[in-house]
Amino acid sequence: MTLNGKRAIVTGSNSGIGLGVAVELAKAGADVVLNSFTNDDSDHALAATLSAEYGVDVTYVQADMSKGRECRALIETAGGCDILVNNAGIQFVSPVEDFPEDRWDAIIAINLSSAFHTTAAALPAMREKGWGRIVNIASAHGLTASPYKSAYVAAKHGVIGLTKTIGLETAGQGVTCNAICPGYVLTPIVEKQIPDQMAVHNMSREDVIAKVMLQRQPSGEFATVEQMGGTAVFLCSDAAAQITGTSISVDGGWTAL
Ligand code: NAD
Repeated sequence: MTLNGKRAIVTGSNSGIGLGVAVELAKAGADVVLNSFTNDDSDHALAATLSAEYGVDVTYVQADMSKGRECRALIETAGGCDILVNNAGIQFVSPVEDFPEDRWDAIIAINLSSAFHTTAAALPAMREKGWGRIVNIASAHGLTASPYKSAYVAAKHGVIGLTKTIGLETAGQGVTCNAICPGYVLTPIVEKQIPDQMAVHNMSREDVIAKVMLQRQPSGEFATVEQMGGTAVFLCSDAAAQITGTSISVDGGWTAL
């Protein structure tokens, strides 16, 4: 499929799933705007590498997705977009009574409110063109819960609610809004959880992966960033033009349990 001439903005895309989605969109021919809150030489070098590799325009725009004004400025600085992928996200694990307020606020801001701000800023131009794709990276935790992840689960359920609402507000206008719900994907956000889980459960790395993380994932395998990217490309295709306001699970069967 070709996304030639389309501009995609992927929030939180200097690593993990965001980067995987950016790569698949670039392979499909889209120009891509990468983003994170950092402004390192390596961020701009990454954009240059992808541009050279896939023959599309790739730039990097710094913006902190915890701040509404910066979310909106990202869309403006990029010159608008045809494809918006709301992917930036963080995690924190704690019983609710000890959950630090600042971690709750940061998770709600980055994982949920940023998608509200970017969508509000990007939508008018999509409507005007009569074509647009909004893809929200939610989670299996947008559909089910786990203990000690109150903020994350609340934010991801919120993303699913936002997705349904935007799907309705854009129906019949050439714009779709959908969520992808990954199960466990071995990215830095997951890597960071492994030492904590090893300590909590007094288990080896291998046992934490097999018996704690992938225990919820019937396939027994991590999903991959390439699979998330491929699903996003599909949602941008003509075949998906009537898919809107819904979510696609890429979770090895987790939410079928
Ligand atoms: P990751 O830590 O590799 O990537 C997160 C990205 O968000 C990074 O690029 C980071 O720089 C960026 N980011 C963090 N705070 C930001 C901020 N304030 N402003 C801008 N960018 C910011 O993690 P990942 O696994 O690739 O996660 C990507 C998304 O996928 C998240 O929304 C996460 O909740 C979701 N997800 C991940 C998994 C998984 O198993 N890895 C499962 C389900 C959902």
